[in-house]
Amino acid sequence: MPHSLQNTEKQLSREEIIELLNTEEGLTEPLFKKADSLRKKYIGDDVHLRGVIIFSNYCEQNCLYCSMREENFSVDRYRMSAEEIILAAKKLSNAGYKTIVLSSGEDSYYDTDIIAYIVYTIKQFADVAVTLSLGARGFDEYRTWKIAGADRYILKFESSNPELYNIYNEKTVLQDRIQHLRFLKRIGYRVGSGSIVGLPKQSVEDIADDILLVRELDADIASFSPFVPSPFTPYQNMPTASLGMALKTLAVARLAMPQTHIVSSTALNKISENGCIDGLNCGANVILSDLTSTISTNEKYSLDKNIISDYSPDPHKLESLIETSGRKIATTKGDPV
Ligand code: SAH
Repeated sequence: MPHSLQNTEKQLSREEIIELLNTEEGLTEPLFKKADSLRKKYIGDDVHLRGVIIFSNYCEQNCLYCSMREENFSVDRYRMSAEEIILAAKKLSNAGYKTIVLSSGEDSYYDTDIIAYIVYTIKQFADVAVTLSLGARGFDEYRTWKIAGADRYILKFESSNPELYNIYNEKTVLQDRIQHLRFLKRIGYRVGSGSIVGLPKQSVEDIADDILLVRELDADIASFSPFVPSPFTPYQNMPTASLGMALKTLAVARLAMPQTHIVSSTALNKISENGCIDGLNCGANVILSDLTSTISTNEKYSLDKNIISDYSPDPHKLESLIETSGRKIATTKGDPV
């Protein structure tokens, strides 16, 4: 057993993180057990189930791995109106969700004021945390939305390696994204960030650096979703991330950041049946469940099968799976400590 598994109360070094990520398949049990016990000790058994509304799948970015990319002409694009978004949030709040995640591609069709109006209106009628995940936007916009009542912002840096970042995301640079994350944190958002595990050309050292960057940014929520190739993207024929590496990343992230909220991505279900529940057993404590298709009568929003969000399982099935795995769904907003 690596020394780093015995002495986890001290901060893991880069070398230890790499060593743990290199744990051989078949020998991962002690790592997963340690991560699970740290999760229990620092976070408890509550699973925070967040209700996600993907209100627009238009995107001005062109990331090679992402189905929403601008040049994916096979996607059936849609935009929800402000009133539809507010109504959807109301439905999720009535169904018991304590956090509403408003997510979209980078879509400047929604300007500063309309997002502020949506956030403000939701906060007036519902006792929920509002998380925004709209990509990189203007600093003044972040500030306005914070004042309107937004609580959290998820902006993944996707890869902490600047060279890989430039390959995956042609239009932006990593340093800018990091500046946005620091600004969001500074003005009082709880910040979610992280990367994609298993992207082409990525090494174990890169994954270690992704974990370290989340820790260095002092992110409140960490997300390391496994790469799943999307049809009609340049990476459509690339191999899917391995379940083993995806779970090891969650477990090592838990060891490196015992108190951070860590997401078990619903994309894990694409790799293995109930992979998302496996993630909960390897250190994770948050699930972002895309409910867009369940809260709207408009067929368009029951997203194209190719789109990333379609990985979310049926919400009732998910809830019962969480309960049968011995955990319980949190009834609070679950602000990170
Ligand atoms: N443009 C927005 C939203 C992007 S889609 C933004 O920048 O925040 C939401 C998330 O899905 C991304 O942050 C990315 O981490 C993840 N994602 C996209 N394509 C993926 C794929 N093929 N496999 C795994 N995760 C993917």
